[in-house]
Amino acid sequence: MLQKKIINIALDGPSGAGKSTMAKEIAKEFGFIYVDTGAMYRAVGFYALRNNVKPSNKAAVLPLLDSIKIELKFENKTQRIFLNGENVSSAIREHSVSSAASDVSAIPEVRSFLLDLQRSIAEKNSVIMDGRDIGTVILPNADLKLFLTATPEERAKRRYNELMERGQRMDYETVLADMIKRDKNDEHRDHAPLKAAPDAVLLDTTGNSFSDTLALLKRVIKDRLKNVL
Ligand code: C5P
Repeated sequence: MLQKKIINIALDGPSGAGKSTMAKEIAKEFGFIYVDTGAMYRAVGFYALRNNVKPSNKAAVLPLLDSIKIELKFENKTQRIFLNGENVSSAIREHSVSSAASDVSAIPEVRSFLLDLQRSIAEKNSVIMDGRDIGTVILPNADLKLFLTATPEERAKRRYNELMERGQRMDYETVLADMIKRDKNDEHRDHAPLKAAPDAVLLDTTGNSFSDTLALLKRVIKDRLKNVL
């Protein structure tokens, strides 16, 4: 598909809202690159755990930033994330890394460390970028801002199924409790908290099937971006 200009779509929302599943499909459909910014926070959290540093300990995390190099590579428009040259795309999906990512993401220096990388990808490519502060902080001039959400129970159910499929055993109650804790961390941190930009399109996917949500998103994108697509 010929694109007239670089298009940036910001996709924010809490964990388990279906952002990454949807963003991958949207990227394929419209020929965008899908950028998963959560993976970058996960890579930093993973690095802290690997170095036996408590991810919430700001004073201990900060010196680590000097020895972290994060690179994204896109194969068939799919993101692979490299931490100091090592492909950590699978390792960062471990359940323990989720809360480590949430802890390091509350540190302002970690956020600014990742900000340039996120912006520079969006400057050069048409992207759908998923995260928590994309529409509010990273890409305030995005062509379209979407905010995807669902009830905590529904999001926990989806995350539970995902973990089971990957063979990571965990009970549903733990997944739900961790998700509620992570939401709280993300919504109440001082710096770039999770929130919808005032000009974002809000979409609650509770009770929707995968195909319902995808169809809805495609409709919104085609409608809102009809002059640039
Ligand atoms: O999206 P994902 O669940 O992989 O993100 C992991 C954690 O990284 C989130 O819980 C959130 O704390 C943090 N994050 C963030 N800002 C982003 C993306 C992720 O604070 N743009």
